[in-house]
Amino acid sequence: MSIGMSQIEEIIKKVMIEISEESKNKNPASQNRLGIFDDMNDAIEAAWVAKQEFTKYSLEDRAKITESIKQEIGKNIEVISKMAVEETGMGRYEHKVLKNRLVIEKTPGVEDLKSEVFSGDGGLTLIELSPFGVIGAIAPSTNPTETIICNSIGMIAAGNSVVFGPHPGAKDVSVKTVEIINEAIEKANGPKNLITTIRRPTIEKAQILMNHEKINMICATGGPGVVKAAMSTGKKAIGAGAGNPPAVVDSTADIEKAAKDIINGCSFDNNLPCIAEKEVIAEDRIADYLIFCMKKNSAYEIKDDELLKKLENLVLDEKGGPDRAFIGKNADYILKHIGVDYDKNVKAIIVEVDRKHPFVTEELMMPVLPIVRVKNIDEAIELAVKVEHGNRHTAIMHSKNIDNLTRLARAIQTTIFVKNGPSYAGIGYGAEGYTTFTIAGPTGEGLTSAKTFTRKRRCVLVEGFSIK
Ligand code: NAD
Repeated sequence: MSIGMSQIEEIIKKVMIEISEESKNKNPASQNRLGIFDDMNDAIEAAWVAKQEFTKYSLEDRAKITESIKQEIGKNIEVISKMAVEETGMGRYEHKVLKNRLVIEKTPGVEDLKSEVFSGDGGLTLIELSPFGVIGAIAPSTNPTETIICNSIGMIAAGNSVVFGPHPGAKDVSVKTVEIINEAIEKANGPKNLITTIRRPTIEKAQILMNHEKINMICATGGPGVVKAAMSTGKKAIGAGAGNPPAVVDSTADIEKAAKDIINGCSFDNNLPCIAEKEVIAEDRIADYLIFCMKKNSAYEIKDDELLKKLENLVLDEKGGPDRAFIGKNADYILKHIGVDYDKNVKAIIVEVDRKHPFVTEELMMPVLPIVRVKNIDEAIELAVKVEHGNRHTAIMHSKNIDNLTRLARAIQTTIFVKNGPSYAGIGYGAEGYTTFTIAGPTGEGLTSAKTFTRKRRCVLVEGFSIK
C-alpha cells in the first residue's frame, strides 16, 4: 500500500501537534493559569523563570505592579474575606474586610527601599537594596489572605518572585488570592508566575518548598513548628512566630478607656491575630472597676466555678492547649456550647483566674480573655514577662505613669509595645505607622516591609563623584 503526499502531510501535522501538546504539559509555566500548580517543584521552577524575567523591570514597573495588586484586591475584598471565614471556620467577616483593607492601604512598596551613601575625600560608596531572588513564603490559617497580600506587595516591590506555601485549612482562599494577584500583575504587564502556589498544600510540600535549591530566602509566618523548620534549613530565614500578648493595666490608667480598648483588641477577628490581647494583668485596686467596664463593653463574665470547668473542658484539648474546633469562634457560639444562651453581639468572655491557668499561659486565639489580679506594678511586670514566654512579640499597657510604661517596655523586650490603645494600633490600625501581618520577633526583622526582603550590596567609586 502506498501513501500519498497529502496523507504524509496529514501525519506530520498530527505528530507535530502531539509533540507540541506534550511539551506544553512538560513546561510548568503552561500547566497552569495565574500561578497555580499541582506540583510544588513546578511552582518553584515557574517562579524562578519569572524572577529571571523580572530583573529586566524597573522600579517604576514594580510600583505599577504593586499598585495594580492593591486595586484588584480592593475589588475583591468582600469575596476573599467571606471565603476565608467559610473555609477556615474562624474569625469574623467584617473584621477580615478591615484587615484586608488595612493591608492594601498601609503596606509599603518601592518607597521603602532607601539607598545609603558615604561620600568624602575617598570618593563615593553606595549601599543598594537588591532582591533576594525567589522567596518561599509560608502563610498561616489565621490571616491567610492578609499574609499573602502583604507579603506579595513587599516582596515584589523588593524585586523578588514568591512561592507561597499556604495552610492546608485555607487552601482555596489562598489559591483565589494568588489568582487575583497574578491577574493584577498581568494587567500591569508584569511577568507570568511572579507569585505561585499549589492547589493542595501539605506540611510535606512546605518542607519541599523550604529546602529547594532554587529558594533563596524563607519567610515563615506561623506557630513555633514552622519557624523552627525554616530556621533549620541553613538558608536566610525570616521567622514570624507565635505570641501571647499580655495587657497590663495599672492603677493610674483611664480604666473606662482601657476596658474598651482591651475588649475591642481581644475580640478583633475573634482573637486570631498574633498581636491580640491574650490575657489581662490588672492591679488589684482597679480590677473590679475594669471588669465592670469590660462588661459595659459587651463582655460576658464567668464567675461560677462549674461554668468555668465546663469552659475549660470545652476549649482546651487533652494537652491543655486550645482545641482547634474553638479557635477563632464567636463568643456567643462558645457560650452556647456551655449552656449559656446570651446576646449574639457579645464580643468576649472574661474570667478571673489564677496566674498559672492554661487560659493565661497558652495562646488560645479565641475570644476568651483571662484576667489575673496582682498586688502592684512590680508583680504585674514580672508576670507579664513570664507569660509572654520570651516570644518577644507584643505587649500592651494601659497607664499614665511614664516610669511604669518604660519599665515594662524595657523588661519585656517585645517587638511591638502598645501604650494606651488596642493591640491592633501596633500594626497601624487607627494609629501611625505602616502595616504588616508578618512580625518577625524570633529573627529580629520586626514588622516586615519591602526592605526586609532585600540584600544589601555595596558599590564603591574611588576618588570620584564627591563634589564637596
Ligand atoms: P501553624 O503553625 O499551624 O501553620 C502555619 C503555616 O506553617 C501553615 O502554612 C502550615 O502548613 C505550616 N507549617 C506548620 N508546621 C510546619 C512544619 N513543621 N514544616 C513546614 N511547614 C509547617 O499556624 P496557624 O494555626 O496557621 O497560625 C497561627 C499561629 O501563627 C499562631 O501561633 C500565631 O501567633 C502565629 N502567627 C504569627 C504571626 C507573626 O507575624 N508573628 C502572624 C500570624 C500568625
